Amino acid sequence: KKCLNRIKKTQHLNAFITVTEELSLKQAQQSEIRLSQGVPKGPLDGIPFAVKDNFCTENVKTTCASRMLKDYTPPYNATVVQKLLDQGAVLMGKTNMDEFAMGSGSIDGTFGPVKNPWSYAAPYRAHTAASPDSDWVVTGGSSGGSAAAVASLTSYLALGSDTGGSTRNPGSLCGVVALKPSYGLLSRHGLIPLVNSMDVPGIITRSVNDVATVLGVLQGLDIRDSTTVPAPTSLTDLPEDFDVKNICVGIPKEYHAPGLSEETLAQWSRVADLFERAGARVEQVSLPHTQYSIVCYHVLCCAEVASNMARFDGLEYGHRSNIDKSTEVMYASTRHEGFNDVVRGRILSGNYFLLKQNYQHYFVKAQKVRRLIADDFRRAFASGVDVLLTPTTLTDAARYHAFTQEDNRTRCAEEDVFTQPANLAGLPAVSVPVALSRRGLPIGLQLVGPALEDKKLLCVARWIE
Ligand code: GLN
Repeated sequence: KKCLNRIKKTQHLNAFITVTEELSLKQAQQSEIRLSQGVPKGPLDGIPFAVKDNFCTENVKTTCASRMLKDYTPPYNATVVQKLLDQGAVLMGKTNMDEFAMGSGSIDGTFGPVKNPWSYAAPYRAHTAASPDSDWVVTGGSSGGSAAAVASLTSYLALGSDTGGSTRNPGSLCGVVALKPSYGLLSRHGLIPLVNSMDVPGIITRSVNDVATVLGVLQGLDIRDSTTVPAPTSLTDLPEDFDVKNICVGIPKEYHAPGLSEETLAQWSRVADLFERAGARVEQVSLPHTQYSIVCYHVLCCAEVASNMARFDGLEYGHRSNIDKSTEVMYASTRHEGFNDVVRGRILSGNYFLLKQNYQHYFVKAQKVRRLIADDFRRAFASGVDVLLTPTTLTDAARYHAFTQEDNRTRCAEEDVFTQPANLAGLPAVSVPVALSRRGLPIGLQLVGPALEDKKLLCVARWIE
């Protein structure tokens, strides 16, 4: 009830697309009975959670923040949602996002932009004289609603999706912990796809220990997703005696990227020094193909988008245009009306990259570059590095007006410079809040680990938390 009240009080943030009040109260009541009888279903029994609106939820609208799916109600739960419900966790609602998870600001969905809760907090208010309603900062994206839901204390955990940074980026800008697990560790069944070869469900919480608990519940094989792998460890609690003396932290030199703010750079150095003082080995490493990652990501992303979005034709489900002169005209006007220009732009680019005469030049080339990027990481880890320490974002959260003034798509692509390589390589990565900027907004740092070493990654993350 407290969480539902908080949702009402924080409505101005626009973090939720659907609030499942009736269902939440019913689930909470059942949980209360179990807890009073001392028979909880699992470690998350009674814990309120929020879900990004691109995960299917049985009998609860799942819109992807798009006109195309604005009235779509799936008949089943995504595996990760079902696993949380099986533990007795209580669904609070579905969170706002960029349309079909394409974006880095959570400003592009059909239900309007998400406001960062830190826009209303004392440190930022002390910094700016303007009213919060005209001077608010973005949450980052595309899982901005999920990050805002956790940061504004309406849920203890939230599911996001992470294809190029969409969980870590808003996690960092909203001052919460955000994990992108290893590719394949969590099932994608019921997650409406953006880029199948990179998508992973992400976990957003207030602490690293909480992420570990949720990961323990969600990880593992799913017969409904053939890309899942068995969980390498049972991952109950993180060990209390983990010692950073025994680890080697790599600092990738290519991540000193243009646009990195002085403050974020200072935090990055400060935490690297902390590791060194605690007895860890801190070494500079090189990931030489980093500079190609954004363009490589965008070719592959658009190609997969072009193919994924073909299912939205106005026939089986979703929006259907009234113009029905012919089947072709109906398809075209349905897709024109249903998708925003970001989505349509990616479909067009993707189909261009996949044309017979372009396929080798763009798609196949990007696949090769992707391998080179993954090999950079493999080499770094093989040389003895346990985790990489990097910034998560270039700067703290931008003001909405500034964010939308610049060429949004360029800005959007640049935002992901530190996060996308881990998706291209399928590696686990976590963003942890480490400080407030001079403007009173959160700054996060990212740790990246070898595939399926999510547990070790979280042990290190807890140390810097
Ligand atoms: N910003 C990236 C994009 O627009 C990442 C999106 C994501 O991770 N879902 O594609």
